[in-house]
Parts: sequence; C-alpha cells; structure tokens
Amino acid sequence: MKKSFLDRIQSGEKLVADGATGSNLQKRGLSMGVASERWVLENPEQILRLHSDFISAGSDIILTCTFGGSSIRLEQSGLADKIVEINTRAVELARQAAGDKVYVAGSVGPLGHLLKPLGPVEEEDAFKAFQQQIQTLDAAGVDLLVIETQFDLAEAGIAIKAAHSVSKLPLVCSFSYDRGTRTMMGVKPSQAGQELTEAGVDLIGINCGRSLNENLSALQMLRKSTDLPIWFKPNAGSPGLDDQGKPVYSLKPEEMGAEVSKWLAEGASVVGGCCGTSPEHLAAIASEVKQTRVL
Ligand SMILES: [Zn+2]
Repeated sequence: MKKSFLDRIQSGEKLVADGATGSNLQKRGLSMGVASERWVLENPEQILRLHSDFISAGSDIILTCTFGGSSIRLEQSGLADKIVEINTRAVELARQAAGDKVYVAGSVGPLGHLLKPLGPVEEEDAFKAFQQQIQTLDAAGVDLLVIETQFDLAEAGIAIKAAHSVSKLPLVCSFSYDRGTRTMMGVKPSQAGQELTEAGVDLIGINCGRSLNENLSALQMLRKSTDLPIWFKPNAGSPGLDDQGKPVYSLKPEEMGAEVSKWLAEGASVVGGCCGTSPEHLAAIASEVKQTRVL
C-alpha cells in the first residue's frame, strides 16, 4: 500500500509531477485545434504511452487527460454528451499506467468561457460543471485533484467549492501567471496565496505561465503569502512555431533541469513542467529532485 500523497508532502518529501499533455500529444499527431480529450476515446494508446513515458522519466504523479473535461469546455469541443465517459476512461488510462506506485491526479482546467458579467457563464452553471467533472474523477478513482491553469479568483473559488461539495481528496489549486507575475485577469501570486489558503486547499500551485525567471519570481511571491505546500509546473520557456505551424518551446531539457534546485530552494514541494515539457525535460527535472532524496 502506498503512503498517502499528503503524508509524503507534509513529511517534507519533494515529489515529481509530470510534463505537458497537449503539446506532447500534438507532437505525437494530435491535430492543432483538436481537444486532447478526444484522444481519450479515439486514440487511448497514445494517452497511455505518454503517461508511461512520464513515469519512466521519473514522475511520482501523473495528471489525467481531462483538463478540458468539464461540460462547458467539452461543449466547445463537440463532446458534451461524453463527459462521464471521457473523465472515467481518462482515469482508467492513467491508473493503468500508474499501477500502485504513482499517484493519479485528476486534472480540472478552466471552463473556457468567462463568468458573467465579463463572459456568458452563470456562477451556478460553473459550479454544476465543476461539480459534475470532479465527482466523476473522484468516483473513477483519482488520488488527488488539481484545479489548474486558473487565472480568475472567482472561477477558481467556484471550482474549489464544487470540489469540497463532492470530494474529500487532497486538493491542489494552481494559477497560471501568463502575464509574467500576473494572470490574464491581473491576479497577483500574493492574492492567490491569501485567497486560496482561506478557501481551504491543500496545496497552492503555479503552472504554465511564461518564462522560467518570471515563474520563479511568482513562486517567491506566492511563498511569502502562504504556509501551504506549493505545486510548481512552469512552461519549458516561451512557445514559437515550427515550419509546420506546430508550437515549439525554447528550453532544452538540461536548461530546465538546471533550474530545479532553485525551485526547491524557494519552497516548491511538487515540481514538474507545463507546456513544452517533454518526457526528456521531465527526466532532467526528476533526476535533480531525486538527487535531493536521502537514500
Ligand atoms: Zn501549459
């Protein structure tokens, strides 16, 4: 029986999450503009293979391919009628790769439309959408939940309430500072730190974002605003486009690996990578973390 995720974090152990889902699936043939969740049903071998590649690279935690798996987001992908099937199958695929040594984290991304009055989504509908996805992930057997790439404190707050209403699993809420050290809605790491601590999550995160330096600054700001453990999955640098119009990320695996000691020194408890983080990048990150473990 494996030790619980939170026990390991609370005993001070540093854990390795995984790398990117979307950008790696695109490298493996997923067309641009097609939702990753479509492959959960139509090309599950590739999802399974990506999970296995991250585990071979050293991940202690893998995230389900359900980032866009809320009803509101799936509607935008033409998959709204498949919500239970996609979220359940995605957990099965992750669990199959993870066995009993690696944790499966249920990924919950933003709804893809803003809340009223800035966008079309009613608060009540947002709550129901998060609740349904989270309940499905929990029932399918994830070990923890990760509400990620958030940018709006109101939307994240609704997702957290929805999680609390249907699940007792460890809960991570992670924001994306894609304006450097602000989210696209202007949220600062210190605000996220304060509000998410009050909202009652177990870990507060930073994922995606822009450059490693900016993400590191965001980490330092977040650390000052909360005593909760920190989840840290920065991008592999900024995206550009290759000659086929597919995104390429600027950092090499060894360049990302070289930064990991700073992330740990600044207080990250879980590290991994977001967009552009291939299994090779993840291996470079994991080897740095595993060097710090007492044998
Ligand atoms: Zn990302």
